[in-house]
Amino acid sequence: MTLHIDEHLNYECVQCGRSCTGWNVWLRDELAERLKELPITLRVIQERGQAFERVDGILKMYRDDAHPACGYLNEQKLCNIHATLGFEVKPKTCRQFPFFLTRLPDGQVRAGASHCCTAVRGGLGPPLSQSRAELEDLLAQGAQMREIESEIEIYPGHSQSYDSVLAFEKHFEQQLADGGWGRALESALVSLATPLAGPWQPYPSLIEQLPLFSQIMTMSLLKPCLNDHSRELWQRIDQAFLQGGELEVPEYAWKASVADLDLLIQEGVGSRFDTRIDDYRRAIWFRKGHLLAGNLVAGLLLLWSLPGILRLLTALEAWKQQSEPAEEHFSRALDTVEMSLVAHSQNGELLVQKMSHHLVAMAQIQG
Ligand code: SF4
Repeated sequence: MTLHIDEHLNYECVQCGRSCTGWNVWLRDELAERLKELPITLRVIQERGQAFERVDGILKMYRDDAHPACGYLNEQKLCNIHATLGFEVKPKTCRQFPFFLTRLPDGQVRAGASHCCTAVRGGLGPPLSQSRAELEDLLAQGAQMREIESEIEIYPGHSQSYDSVLAFEKHFEQQLADGGWGRALESALVSLATPLAGPWQPYPSLIEQLPLFSQIMTMSLLKPCLNDHSRELWQRIDQAFLQGGELEVPEYAWKASVADLDLLIQEGVGSRFDTRIDDYRRAIWFRKGHLLAGNLVAGLLLLWSLPGILRLLTALEAWKQQSEPAEEHFSRALDTVEMSLVAHSQNGELLVQKMSHHLVAMAQIQG
């Protein structure tokens, strides 16, 4: 096994506690048994009524709206399990954060890191490669990894070998070097990357439809990024975008037309964070995120849609604080996208899979 670490990322924990807040932390029954009588657990029970709960038969740390953080996170933003029983005892998810591991069919392991981590997002600390010993320990203990299969679905109903996909990646990276992310992704998508290694033959109807498709993608990706997943809100968002009417997003205190929001994005955010967005795309590409979204076209769609959703969320974050879009707003938008769409939730994956079906159908109607 060869371990390849993303050399463009940096990481050193700044003990912000972000990774202990807003997540479901699953744990084994044996760990709960070991913890249950300890003062660190009694303190959690006293504060929130219970320390653990079972969801679909699996045990997790108890959290509720009043207590969104893990109960074992202490006032110094440190883990009480780590402090009392040692690093090795922490649940596997916690020991492994923020590393993101992908095993490839040739046995290679790619190590990236989650952009939900404050240090990774801010480029704080030494290069990630300095975490090699820690990563090797995790791998020796059976770390959790995403697996890339030797047959890859390119789009529904059409698969190719991993070797063909490697040839595609080589051609794509050449396009990337020549024209940047936007052009390389568009060129792969409008031809549905066929034949895979290039040259790619575009479908004219897909070229025409792409601007509209881009708007639909942004609107669709916004919905899983919100805390309110109610059907009513989602329907209101669809209506506002499709009919150009008033858009209400209570979480961001936004209540104005879609055109006003467009203006805020164009004039407030513009292309200011485009280099950061490309850095994020590169990190996803390194950890093979484009092969982890159900099919290749879905993975490419996700990468292609990132500027739209990141600019939109950055504008909304700034609006919520009634200030000019700035780094802190972009950083929060990036955290939300990584958490809700890319690395830590299946919502984005399912959504881009659905959209890949639409794109393929549009190409087939024309073809
Ligand atoms: S989010 Fe990153 S920096 Fe913050 S506590 Fe977790 S690992 Fe440390």
